[in-house]
Amino acid sequence: MADNNHFDYIIIGNGLAGLQLALKMASDVFFDEKRIALIDNSQKNTNDKTWSFWETEPSHWNNITHQSWNKASIITSKKQIDLNLNPYHYKSIRSIDFYNYSKKKLSKKINIEFIIEHVESLNEDDIIKVSTNKNTYRANHVFDSRIPETFSIDSKNSISIIQHFKGWVIKTDNKAFDKNRVTMMDYRLKDGEQTTFTYVLPFSETEALVEFTYFTSQVVNEDTYDAFIKKYIKAYLNIENYSIIETEKGQIPMTNFSFEKFNTKKVTKIGTGGGWVKGSTGYSFKHTEKKTTKIIENIKANKLPSNGLFNRRYKFYDKVFLKVLKDENHKGEWLFQQFYDKNSIQTMFRFLDEESTFLEELKIMWSLFSWSFIKAFFKTL
Ligand SMILES: Cc1cc2nc3c(=O)[nH]c(=O)nc-3n(C[C@H](O)[C@H](O)[C@H](O)COP(=O)(O)OP(=O)(O)OC[C@H]3O[C@@H](n4cnc5c(N)ncnc54)[C@H](O)[C@@H]3O)c2cc1C
Repeated sequence: MADNNHFDYIIIGNGLAGLQLALKMASDVFFDEKRIALIDNSQKNTNDKTWSFWETEPSHWNNITHQSWNKASIITSKKQIDLNLNPYHYKSIRSIDFYNYSKKKLSKKINIEFIIEHVESLNEDDIIKVSTNKNTYRANHVFDSRIPETFSIDSKNSISIIQHFKGWVIKTDNKAFDKNRVTMMDYRLKDGEQTTFTYVLPFSETEALVEFTYFTSQVVNEDTYDAFIKKYIKAYLNIENYSIIETEKGQIPMTNFSFEKFNTKKVTKIGTGGGWVKGSTGYSFKHTEKKTTKIIENIKANKLPSNGLFNRRYKFYDKVFLKVLKDENHKGEWLFQQFYDKNSIQTMFRFLDEESTFLEELKIMWSLFSWSFIKAFFKTL
């Protein structure tokens, strides 16, 4: 008799990582005969975030891209750096569009099942047992997007800060935004000496997401973000009349915590819980795409799914940046100004995508040459 609770693969978490992995499996005939379950306690039917990222064409995200820009600005208290992103585009996807698109595609596959339950524990033996609030399932391999319980921002064994933010999508009566230009970082409005900035994603001439962001060790209360967003809209965007049509808030760990040590032969940690969020930036959309591609290649080559997911060189760079931001948090504005002023945006994107050449990396490091970096470099070594 067929065992309905046994799967070849169980994916825990229908978030960015789980769904991207499932989409890759669904579009590869290699997995057509495999039973795959996606377990999440959430139906994923709210727009809980907006993912921004850059990429070149062709892209398979175009049909769910909410807005795309080919010009960007970085603004500091000293200067405005205007960037032509060509051949890149900076893009935003609303998470609800991604969830709906993924669920629609995946529900067409008879070998893929959605289970709306809360995973409570994993028991690893010859086969893995996944216990939820309702059932026990078995799998040959589990992809797990839960963040390990032992991870803590305050851990002494890793360097961690929090990227925390709140944003308002505002609608204005009159034209107020250049819909072709995104403000990636504006450092003029600050909360004291901490690394804080505002970014503006214009979705049309009358609608934009304005988000106030911290790269710090402690979160702040909600009124603080609201006060800064309000001030930015009035003082820097010169907008008096507007309505707030949506809000988003969140926290992203920026850390070099060794998530990969939780990978085993039968469990692969994925997403934020797998260390896929880039430690120095908090971006993970495109890294998720690359890492899920690598996992599929590994499975097909009969290798451990987690084989070769990380590059030690970039882990080292991330650690140095994190060390500077953690120890000298007021340096953030200077650091990002140097980044984008002294290097072309295309080189920076390649570097952040972990696709740069060693020579480009040396040049980037040179542009940040300072006592803070020398200290962080040697402490990190
Ligand atoms: C508000 C916000 C905005 C962000 N914006 C960007 C951005 O612009 N660009 C970018 O590159 N990155 C961004 N990030 C960072 C990162 O891309 C996202 O956090 C991304 O969603 C991480 O993917 P994930 O799959 O690890 O986690 P998630 O997308 O959060 O998915 C995890 C899933 O696991 C499920 N789950 C957790 N525990 C259990 C359990 N015990 N049982 C069952 N299911 C469980 C959850 O319900 C959830 O659906 C943002 C993060 C946040 C929070």
